[in-house]
Amino acid sequence: MDKTYLDRGSTSLLKDIDTENYNVVLISPRAYFLFTPLLPSSTVGTVELRSIMQPIRFITRFKSREVLFIEGSCTDIDPQKKLITVEDSSEIKGEVSKQQIKYDYLVVGVGAENATFNIPGVREFACFLKESWDARKIRSQLLDSLESAAFPGQPEEEIKRLLHMVVVGGGPTGIEYAAGLHDFLEEDVKIWYPEIAGKFRITLVEATPHVLPAFSKDLIAYTEKTFAENKVTILNNTAVKKVNQKDIVVLNKDKELESIPYGLLVWATGNTARPLVADLMKKLGPTAQAQRRGLTVDEHLIVAGSDNSIYALGDASATKWAPTGQVASRQGSYLAEHFRTLYELKKKATNSDSKVLLSQVDPFVYNHRGSLAYVGGDKAIAELPGNIHLSGAATYLFWKSAYLSNLFSLRNRILVGFDWVKCKMFGRDIGR
Ligand code: NAD
Repeated sequence: MDKTYLDRGSTSLLKDIDTENYNVVLISPRAYFLFTPLLPSSTVGTVELRSIMQPIRFITRFKSREVLFIEGSCTDIDPQKKLITVEDSSEIKGEVSKQQIKYDYLVVGVGAENATFNIPGVREFACFLKESWDARKIRSQLLDSLESAAFPGQPEEEIKRLLHMVVVGGGPTGIEYAAGLHDFLEEDVKIWYPEIAGKFRITLVEATPHVLPAFSKDLIAYTEKTFAENKVTILNNTAVKKVNQKDIVVLNKDKELESIPYGLLVWATGNTARPLVADLMKKLGPTAQAQRRGLTVDEHLIVAGSDNSIYALGDASATKWAPTGQVASRQGSYLAEHFRTLYELKKKATNSDSKVLLSQVDPFVYNHRGSLAYVGGDKAIAELPGNIHLSGAATYLFWKSAYLSNLFSLRNRILVGFDWVKCKMFGRDIGR
């Protein structure tokens, strides 16, 4: 069964959408929004998971007319009949656990899933970084590995394995995760587990010659230098070929197969389309939907081949912009405005042909405000418009304020702010 989740685009659409003139039905298998950029921080206890969650009903209760929220997974979209199938996603099922719902307009904001490239063992043994349960699983495995390594009589080789944390993928997700782990080691493991802290190792495996390919050369060099100073090993030109329960098999830079034992394996090799999205692309046909990573949309975010009735945003769509939270959030606000204008035009129109109406609605425009990444040891990098490249401790403060201001609500900002202060005063919480 395919699960559909609401990403950042859907959150901003829901905040701004006009519920006076549209009946809004919201479908998601979980009843909260999750601010994924701070998910890596939650696995080591820098922030609490609850602080980066926003219950959907916190948003819908402020709407002028009620939004129908259904906790369920959309399992099928029929673009011809304009019908979706929704299945109850709760564990305790009532008499009815499947429903079909008609729509006039459908907005697909289901995000993407982790790309595994069908590498054997990834789904079975690696941890992802997408959902709240992924963060809980990583946290539990991380603390388990520490306790098992500290168990009396543990052989030296096994201690080495248990304390080897491996991150696969040198994109922003992998880099920020490895950076957060390094801080956890320096600021907490050394205090709470002094006897084993010296054996804690972090390795980041990247298939291409350098990490962060989307950043400029000087910022890549800065990141690699900071990692080296922090004793976080980067294995460039190294591709994972197989994942076993206790080791990964890689094709190393000398083109030889090598086994690397691990205690915790975090998989961050990018995104791919969810089955629901892939299925919709198939139904709409290869002429309209020629991209593999998501739904092709036009300048109004209308899905190609959908007869102007389906929209897509965020990681579910494939556009010329990098699939970041910033883009998704802007797309959500744009769509809210788009529907508002469409309603006004329809009210006045003598010709209600959708093509004619849409020609009067502004297309989506996006002004890139830059990319940021945390690289560990209270340092960050930033690539801003106008070819401005920043790095270091001051950039970290900028990174913090950008993430804080991008959080869903004042409540989330206060909670995360408190978490950061708590972490500085008392260290990270190593309870489970
Ligand atoms: P990504 O696609 O940016 O990076 C994945 C990396 O994994 C690539 O460098 C790839 O070469 C490597 N890889 C793939 N298969 C491999 C294998 N078998 N072995 C070793 N390495 C392998 O993925 P991401 O970091 O999850 O980011 C996804 C999107 O989200 C990007 O567009 C990114 O910009 C965005 N994002 C941005 C931020 C930020 O701005 N701070 C944070 C998180 C995500």
